[in-house]
Amino acid sequence: MPSQNKPIVTTNRYEELIRGFIEAGYEFKAFGKEAVGKTMFLRHDIDFCLHRALEVAKTNKKLGVTGTFFIMASGFAYNLLDKENQDLVRQIRDNDQIISLHYDPTVYDDIQRGFEIEKNLFDGLFEEDIKVISIHRPGPFLDENNTRLGECEHTYMDKYFNDIKYCSDSGGRFKYGHPYETEAFKSEQPIHLLLHPVWWTHDLNTPTEFLLNWQEEVAYRTIDKTLDNCKTFDKKAFWETA
Ligand SMILES: [Zn+2]
Repeated sequence: MPSQNKPIVTTNRYEELIRGFIEAGYEFKAFGKEAVGKTMFLRHDIDFCLHRALEVAKTNKKLGVTGTFFIMASGFAYNLLDKENQDLVRQIRDNDQIISLHYDPTVYDDIQRGFEIEKNLFDGLFEEDIKVISIHRPGPFLDENNTRLGECEHTYMDKYFNDIKYCSDSGGRFKYGHPYETEAFKSEQPIHLLLHPVWWTHDLNTPTEFLLNWQEEVAYRTIDKTLDNCKTFDKKAFWETA
């Protein structure tokens, strides 16, 4: 079992993928900028792990590219208000990356009201005024995909999703083909590329292996956090009951 102290690093696969776009002359831009020619909108939805997100942010900085990290306020996997997590988000931004909100509309009966609550929280915590957000598992939301949330655009609007090429690693694979194989890449057209950090840190074989590996890390971190919060916790008991 890996220890919680084992460093999380991005893989060569990630670096090679991004280098391919750099070498092809792609310009990495913020959502909202004009999509012409070799424009890359690099998007990272953070469904699982801010620690892994930070490693991808550091790698982006090393490679000299900017991505947009969309972070959840209502996710099951991390608490955005936790101090350590707030610090991780600020460190992602300190690595010359853009931060914004990854919004799950299914959490609220009133999608616009829910969005207002989360935007105010996110902007308040990080002193931002976010303009473009991404939506977590959009589902029926895609039926009216050009609807704004408040004043904000989102990444499933036509201008980012249908008018330019969209590639995603959802589920741990490029379901609709590798981005280099797309007509857009071959003809030097704009690309919107969604990469979830959970698939690009560590070298494993199947989506399930990646997710089990992440769950192990969470278990170790949870043990340490439990000890921080309750000195009477006997760490050994975890192993005895595991
Ligand atoms: Zn998501």
